[in-house]
Amino acid sequence: MEDCLFCRIASGEIPSSKLYEDDDLVAFYDIDPQAPVHFLVIPKQHIESCGEVDGSNSAVIAKAFELISRLTKERGIDSFRVVSNCGPDAGQSVPHLHFHVLAGRSLAWPPG
Ligand code: 5GP
Ligand code: ZN
Repeated sequence: MEDCLFCRIASGEIPSSKLYEDDDLVAFYDIDPQAPVHFLVIPKQHIESCGEVDGSNSAVIAKAFELISRLTKERGIDSFRVVSNCGPDAGQSVPHLHFHVLAGRSLAWPPG
């Protein structure tokens, strides 16, 4: 989508600090980290949120979780949180599905 921030990051039009990229996914560091480790994993395909996942696009979600597992293992991170805010009341500010991966400090539960 032309005016979607994360589509533009995925295409490289807007620069980001990328950890990983393939044909389907990009992982990049969050511009405003909320923990010592905070990166985002996004599908390159524009999916608005977890609420738009169905049989036509769910394969990339499995790939995203395989990638999260690999990236955390490679960095020796054995304790981390994966968050996807879906919709404005849940705190989603960028309407392109993304998984936050947070680690490196003790994380409180329940979230606010
Ligand atoms: P949300 O609020 O939708 O759950 O998460 C969006 C995340 O994207 C936020 O944590 C925010 O800091 C991050 N973000 C917003 N704009 C940019 C940007 O231009 N570059 C990067 N790397 N992260 C961004
Ligand atoms: Zn998008």
